[in-house]
Amino acid sequence: MNLSFGACPIPVEGGDVVVLAHGGGGRLQEQLLDKLIMPIFANDVLTTRHDGAILPTFGGKTVVTTDSFVVTPRFFPGGNIGKLAVSGTINDLAMCGARPVALTVALVIEEGFVLAELRTILHAMQEEAQSLSVSIVAGDTKVVGRGQVDGLFITTTGVGEVVATNPVLPRRVVPGDAVIVSGDIGRHGMAVLCARSGFLDGEPLMSDVASLWRPVSALFAAGLDVHCLRDATRGGLAAVVTEIATSASVTVELDEPLIPVDAKVRGICELFGIDPVHVANEGRFVAFVPDTMADRVLDILRGQPGCHNACRVGQVVPARIAPVILRTAIGVERILDRPFGEQLPRIC
Ligand code: MG
Repeated sequence: MNLSFGACPIPVEGGDVVVLAHGGGGRLQEQLLDKLIMPIFANDVLTTRHDGAILPTFGGKTVVTTDSFVVTPRFFPGGNIGKLAVSGTINDLAMCGARPVALTVALVIEEGFVLAELRTILHAMQEEAQSLSVSIVAGDTKVVGRGQVDGLFITTTGVGEVVATNPVLPRRVVPGDAVIVSGDIGRHGMAVLCARSGFLDGEPLMSDVASLWRPVSALFAAGLDVHCLRDATRGGLAAVVTEIATSASVTVELDEPLIPVDAKVRGICELFGIDPVHVANEGRFVAFVPDTMADRVLDILRGQPGCHNACRVGQVVPARIAPVILRTAIGVERILDRPFGEQLPRIC
């Protein structure tokens, strides 16, 4: 079976909720597969119930990527761990210039997990995948004892077909490239922090979690030679720009006043003493494109959902004293580095 069950989960009626219990026989594990998972993820490949998913080969190059998701809380304004697990892997494919085609899903579930919550999360995964015609073609579920995992951990693996004409790689970044962010930064990290701490009683701050294939594919459809793309996840804008500048042996100069930050995000960051450039995003990317194409890239991105405030935030120059230099509003330059240690764990 594509979706196999390793640790014998048993759906157990417990008052008005149904929880997963650890241990038991094969008949009940089949019920979980047949009644919950298969109907939600149903597609031709999955329903063959083979040991693996047999996919057609592409004419060109294939990209494979994998990621695990452990976010806490599992539900936050704008999304949940399921939507995050699907869009996060789709985004890694997109950043490689690849059209997402198929996903596999591995679930590690703690004994006692409420089935209704699992159902909601699985539906969110399917909805996000289906929005881009991506099929969940294989998977695995393990239920482990209480305390052996914190509720639910999800691992998704994505397969994609490269559609970019030229390679989209850090080493293609060269002096003269423009640096563009696809939208305002810092929402996801601050939304999770607020949800976790109960901070902000009024209107919730929404995470930016979203699949990025549509805006990225619009750039390729326009024939633009995108040098490199990176989704600005853990470590935020500062971390991804540092990684790429280091890989390409160049310096990125960022203009701080040009970096789009929502007023509410900025306010919360100030309260917690966090710089928005270090905060994780789950629906924002950084594009490195030739300077001559920057205006076209911005025009295209601003017409895409979630990208209306895409901005050019800096430029690539020959290597200077550090990989990333931030120029402040008063013209002072400071070296921007990755934050020391994990600023906010369990963010994705
Ligand atoms: Mg990534």
